[in-house]
Amino acid sequence: IQLADPPYLRGLNPPQREAVLTTDGPVLMLAGAGTGKTAALTARLAHLLYTRKAWPSEILAVTFTNRAAREMRERVGRLVGEAVEGMPWLGTFHAIGAKMLRRHAELVGLQSNFTILDTDDQLRLLKQLIVAADIDEKRFPARSLAGLIDEWKNKGLVPADIDAGESERFANGRGGELYQQYQDRLKAVNACDFGDLLLHMLVILKTHRDVLEGYQERFRYIMVDEYQDTNSVQYLWLRLLAQARKNIACVGDDDQSIYSWRGAQVENILRFEKDFPGATVIRLEQNYRSTPHILGAAGGVIAHNSGRLGKQLWTELDAGEKVRVLGVWDGPEEARRVGDEIESCRRAGKSLDDIAILVRASHQTREFEDRFIAIGLPYRIVGGFRFYERAEIRDALAYLRVVNQPADDLAFERIVNVPKRGLGDKALAKIHQLARGEGMPLTTAAARILDTDELTAQARRSLGNLVGDIHRWRDMARDLPHAELARQLLDESGYTAMYQAEKSAEAAGRLENLSELVRAMEEYESLGAFLEHVSLVMDNDGGRQDPQVTIMTIHAAKGLEFDTVFLAGWEEGLFPSQRAVDEGGTKSLEEERRLAYVAITRARRLAVILHAANRRIYGQWTSSIPSRFVGELPADHIDSETTMSGGESLWRANWSEHADPFANVARGTGRGPGWQRAAGQMGQSNFTTTPKRVVESRASAVSLGNKGRSDLKVGQRVFHQKFGYGAIAEIEGNKLEIDFEQAGRKRVMDSFVTIA
Ligand code: ATP
Ligand code: MG
Repeated sequence: IQLADPPYLRGLNPPQREAVLTTDGPVLMLAGAGTGKTAALTARLAHLLYTRKAWPSEILAVTFTNRAAREMRERVGRLVGEAVEGMPWLGTFHAIGAKMLRRHAELVGLQSNFTILDTDDQLRLLKQLIVAADIDEKRFPARSLAGLIDEWKNKGLVPADIDAGESERFANGRGGELYQQYQDRLKAVNACDFGDLLLHMLVILKTHRDVLEGYQERFRYIMVDEYQDTNSVQYLWLRLLAQARKNIACVGDDDQSIYSWRGAQVENILRFEKDFPGATVIRLEQNYRSTPHILGAAGGVIAHNSGRLGKQLWTELDAGEKVRVLGVWDGPEEARRVGDEIESCRRAGKSLDDIAILVRASHQTREFEDRFIAIGLPYRIVGGFRFYERAEIRDALAYLRVVNQPADDLAFERIVNVPKRGLGDKALAKIHQLARGEGMPLTTAAARILDTDELTAQARRSLGNLVGDIHRWRDMARDLPHAELARQLLDESGYTAMYQAEKSAEAAGRLENLSELVRAMEEYESLGAFLEHVSLVMDNDGGRQDPQVTIMTIHAAKGLEFDTVFLAGWEEGLFPSQRAVDEGGTKSLEEERRLAYVAITRARRLAVILHAANRRIYGQWTSSIPSRFVGELPADHIDSETTMSGGESLWRANWSEHADPFANVARGTGRGPGWQRAAGQMGQSNFTTTPKRVVESRASAVSLGNKGRSDLKVGQRVFHQKFGYGAIAEIEGNKLEIDFEQAGRKRVMDSFVTIA
């Protein structure tokens, strides 16, 4: 008898089925957001396993985030049943790269327990090299070098590939030499950075035929999600691995390419058919995720980009609610409004898990965090190192790294005098000198130097204790469970005592974080496995918990979906970012627009876009105007609304009388016209033209600003956001000397005062 379709094929549409069933040969699935690309890829994985075309260990499946990997693993598990054990090669490029590199580390001069550096360590190391090379670190900062090296690595370039022209890009031609030194230094401390995980592997695959053939043989099937965001090194790596069998399936959407700043090349999609002639190209057009209004809004925005491959999307879903565009007063009100909206969703029976707030820049999350903590709304932040980035966590991890990997100099440096042990820069310099001279790790040099009179008696005693402790902890690590080891280590090192002595609320929080760290360790098999996890996690949402609202950047939200999505901060200078606006060209603006497209298409039922009239930047209020993307939303698909909670009475000026938006900032209490302008126009049908007009008037404001304000006179009483009330003592262009009643004489910009 003919059995019904296996579970993973049920409900798939014909092109999706084709993508699943065309197992052999190259396949490219090119389709818009929410059309079931990832769903089809997951079904394909299930199909390969179900039909025994491959064992789990014979499939290489690349996702863009750890979270996506986890979801795919779970879904395949459900589709195929319990029978499938593990999927060792399902993960992000970095996770897979790390795993491979551990097996072949010696081929690039590393040991298999190498450390993966985080940005902090990386910057510290680069800074040392820059200073040692007698280069002015102020003029040529480590951060720029880090960016450049990263770019080279993303392109698959090793130091020997850096020609004079490329080298010229840092410190008058010394870029290449520093890159080489950096790589040497990493090798010496048995470490690598994120870029190396793929670059080293690429070098190994290129230079060791046996290794390459081993993997070509092993990976019967290769598949890649979010293919539009692969960079050159990833592309080259995939091409090598797929060359023999050519069973490679890639899925992507050119409109969702949002990582070009990290070297991603959307051209890889276009190149696919050239590299793999005869590829089956599959297009999906039915969207299963979003309502027609959401699709219409997203489509209207992305239509402003040029050079698209272009796709039609349709959906069978009901029209649903229009996209809501909400103009609010300022950042705190934005957070308040979102909090209120979420509360009413909750009362209406929605789960918090189905709600997300997406931001353009990660610093935007804080305002929401503050608000949600205040009203007790559970939330999680996804897509950053939030937890692991905290100083106390990094210190604790450094201790653990020293124990795990004796050559981890950077970790040793971090903890050598934390808590304070009287080991100053001089002592450290001596240890460094010895380590460099003898080519040994710092911990070894530290142990050596104890036999000499190089250090003061006090420094020798402290260092002796530390070195002794590290040895003891290493011994303990052999039979003590690693979480227990961590607990003892933090006590014995005096690290927890340091915060216990502090008795502040902040210190208490730090101690809680440390306990949380130890708790987290319990979930891992070994210390090494835990440290590996820490270096790789991007999304530390700590597994299943009670329902929580998700707060994340748009970048981190790629591939995900939520019933209700709040899109915060749609203002010029924030989204699109100031950098994109300043660059002026279309390239970065188009990337910002793709981000807007990704953002809107995360929503299943409702998208709410917010923009505030005022933002506090570096402690100063500045007025902002709605994002041009707000203006690009097709009127048919949106409902605009403005709110204002209090504060109206503080300003009365009619915006239309003022060509100069900043004049309004002055008339109010540092509160700007952006909102007001938007509010004024939002009621009108020509709302979509708002941003451009405001941009123009803002430009004229700048020139007005230099002349100063005509409404201010010496002796006038004014109000300033930060200093309160005062009288003008002197006027100099647009700068004022003011005698403040509380703060005394201060010099301020005229645009930040209002007539009291
Ligand atoms: P993105 O471009 O955002 O990554 P995508 O193309 O990968 O989107 P999926 O996430 O795979 O899209 O699917 C979007 C939604 O549609 C999911 O909720 C998925 O379960 C659902 N879906 C996919 N295919 C079908 C189908 N054939 N029938 C019903 N629902 C489907
Ligand atoms: Mg997807």
